[in-house]
Amino acid sequence: MTIRGAGLRRAKGGMKGFWANLTAHYKKLGGVLLVGHRVEKLESMNNGYMVITRKGTFLARQVVSAIPAENTMTIAPPNIKQILNRYVTRDNDRYESAIVVFLGVPESEVSCQPITHHQLLYDYNLPLGNGNNMFISVSAQGDTDSAPKEYRAVMISTHCKLSEWRHLTEEAYQQKKEDMGKHLINLAKQVYPQLGTNAVLYEVGTPRTYQKYTGRINGTVGGIRQNLQNSNQKAMPHDIGIKNFRMVGDTTWPGLGTVACIVGSKIVADQLLNN
Ligand SMILES: Cc1cc2nc3c(=O)[nH]c(=O)nc-3n(C[C@H](O)[C@H](O)[C@H](O)COP(=O)(O)OP(=O)(O)OC[C@H]3O[C@@H](n4cnc5c(N)ncnc54)[C@H](O)[C@@H]3O)c2cc1C
Repeated sequence: MTIRGAGLRRAKGGMKGFWANLTAHYKKLGGVLLVGHRVEKLESMNNGYMVITRKGTFLARQVVSAIPAENTMTIAPPNIKQILNRYVTRDNDRYESAIVVFLGVPESEVSCQPITHHQLLYDYNLPLGNGNNMFISVSAQGDTDSAPKEYRAVMISTHCKLSEWRHLTEEAYQQKKEDMGKHLINLAKQVYPQLGTNAVLYEVGTPRTYQKYTGRINGTVGGIRQNLQNSNQKAMPHDIGIKNFRMVGDTTWPGLGTVACIVGSKIVADQLLNN
C-alpha cells in the first residue's frame, strides 16, 4: 500500500466530505458506528472486556485500541498500562505537533495558481517545521461543500515541537498563536501574494486545539519521531502480549501518518478475522 505516485487531491467538502463518504460506505458494509461514545474505562473480564463509555457500557470479546498509547493508558487495566508505560516513557520527548491556519477567502486571492496543492521549503539551512516547510491546500473551484460560490477554503499546515507550546502563560500562548498565524500566511504569499487580504474566515489551530478536539494528550500530532531505537522491531507492536487486545494507530508500528495507520489496522483486522 502506498500513496507514492497517487497524486495529491482534496475530497469534495474536505475532511468532512471524506468522512461522510467513508462512514456511509462502512455502514453499507454492515459496520456500526457510535459517535460521542468516549471510552472512559476498560475493564478485563473472564472472556473479554467491559468497555465503559460516556454513553453506555459494552461487553467485548476483543478490543482494538485505536487511540494513542498514552491515551490508552488512562483507560486501561493495570496489566495493559504497565506494558504501554515502557514505550510511552521511552518516547516521551519524541512527540511533535502541528500548527494549521484555516482561511475562507474570495476566489480572487487564489485564482493566480491553477494548482491547488503546494509543498514549500523556505530555507535548506533552517530546521524543518514552524513554517520552514509547510503545506498549502486549497479547495477546488466549484467545491461549494467547502466554501460558498466565489470563495475558497485554504489550509496551511506545518509541524512544530510540542515543547515550544507547553507551559506558556495564557498571554504568551495567544501571542504565539497570533504571530505564527501571520508568519504562515506571509510565507504562503510566495505562492498566493494576495492571500488573507480579505479573508472572511481566519482560524489558527495549535497543539492546544488538537488536545481539545481530538483528546490527544498535550495535542500530539503524527505519532512519535522515529529513530533506530524506537522503530521497526523496536516500535510498539500491535500485539503487546495481552489476550484479546490489540493496539493500532500512529503510536504503534509502522508509525506516523495515515497510510502507516491504515497498514497497521489492516494487519490487525486480517489477524482477527482469521482467528
Ligand atoms: C495538520 C496535520 C497534517 C498532517 N499531515 C499528514 C500528511 O500529510 N500525511 C500523513 O500521512 N499524515 C499526516 N498527518 C498525521 C495523520 O493525520 C495521523 O498520523 C493519523 O491521523 C493518526 O491516526 P490515528 O488513528 O492513530 O489517530 P487519530 O487520527 O488521532 O484518531 C484517534 C481518534 O480517537 C478518538 N479518541 C481519543 N480518545 C478517545 C477515547 N477515550 N474514546 C473514544 N475515542 C477517543 C479521537 O477523538 C480521534 O478521533 C497530519 C496530521 C495533522 C494534524
